Amino acid sequence: MNDKPKTTVSVIKADIGSLAGHHVVHPDTMAAATKVLAEAKSKGIIIDFYVTHVGDDLELIMTHNKGVDAPEIHELAWSAFKEATKISKELGLYAAGQDLLSEAFSGNVRGLGPGVAEMEFVERPAEPIVVFMADKTEPGAYNLPIFRIFADPFNTAGLVIDPRLHDGFKFEVFDVFESKSVTLSTPEEMYDLLAIIGTPSRYVIRRVYRKSDNEIGAVVSVERLNLIAGKYIGKDDPVAIVRAQSGFPALGEVLEPFTFPHLVAGWMRGSHHGPLMPVPQRYAKATRFDGPPRIIALGFQVKNGRLVGPSDLFDDVAFDKARELAQEIADYMRRHGPFMPHRLGPEEMEYTTLPQVLEKLKDRFVKVEGEFKARKPIVETKMLTHE
Ligand SMILES: [Mg+2]
Repeated sequence: MNDKPKTTVSVIKADIGSLAGHHVVHPDTMAAATKVLAEAKSKGIIIDFYVTHVGDDLELIMTHNKGVDAPEIHELAWSAFKEATKISKELGLYAAGQDLLSEAFSGNVRGLGPGVAEMEFVERPAEPIVVFMADKTEPGAYNLPIFRIFADPFNTAGLVIDPRLHDGFKFEVFDVFESKSVTLSTPEEMYDLLAIIGTPSRYVIRRVYRKSDNEIGAVVSVERLNLIAGKYIGKDDPVAIVRAQSGFPALGEVLEPFTFPHLVAGWMRGSHHGPLMPVPQRYAKATRFDGPPRIIALGFQVKNGRLVGPSDLFDDVAFDKARELAQEIADYMRRHGPFMPHRLGPEEMEYTTLPQVLEKLKDRFVKVEGEFKARKPIVETKMLTHE
């Protein structure tokens, strides 16, 4: 098994500017990126590729034999984004080059702005994968659905009835503030896992492995631009790759959690909670209040590195009800206007423009004698974790 060549799937994304606000990628920028990747394919640097978008995010899906974090592949993605940015600037697109935080490439796009999800595996005789791509939200948005896919028997029947899944899965969880990770096994450590991933702004499921043989099942991009840049740049619209079938959850088990449009952080100005709405590619644009947060799912078969497909998986009436519910939740949340919990809490607002407004009010507060003073300020705008 180990003698077989390994295939790497790399999904690398960036917002390099969009049409009419933070709304949708312009086709000419996609064409520019496609040209770069087509040339790389003809030179044999990559085996295959697919360029797409969700909202204002340009998505590069690539296959190759160079492994995870290969400098050649990251440089290729970087130059595709650079070429797309040139067009973006020429057309005067909104926030042109937004996610490219650095002028110079230095071997790896991690930390430079783009989001990255990559996995390497020996292809099974049939290798179905799902590439999830979301706009107007953050990497922790995948915590709930990834947990349900790989650890919740009420979602994934295979955990109970398929001996190949029955041992469970291991979750590598990344602490985005401390750059540390911890690996927890399910089902036995399920409650510990939930204790941390229920804080999706900080703890993000990064990889999932099958416990019986350590085979990789899922990977999520964990980059958080705001933490990298130290100020609000945009949400870190995350991507994920999930393997399906034959020892992994079935395709339908992988998609099932998205029938529940759970609340995620992001939406307008990256400052609001809203429902994650599963949509087909044709609706992958951010409109209402710059959202609501959207996710698309493309299904491929990977054969000798070739990407067969895709199938637009949420392009199905079976997800109409989830979309309707998402609309209802969007209405309900919007009626809160600038109030929490629609608007994010103070620790998350730290990276937005709100602190500038608060700064202005700072000197207007006067002491009230004899009143109870809390040991800690109730409105704490500093990161609670940096105490
Ligand atoms: Mg975006």
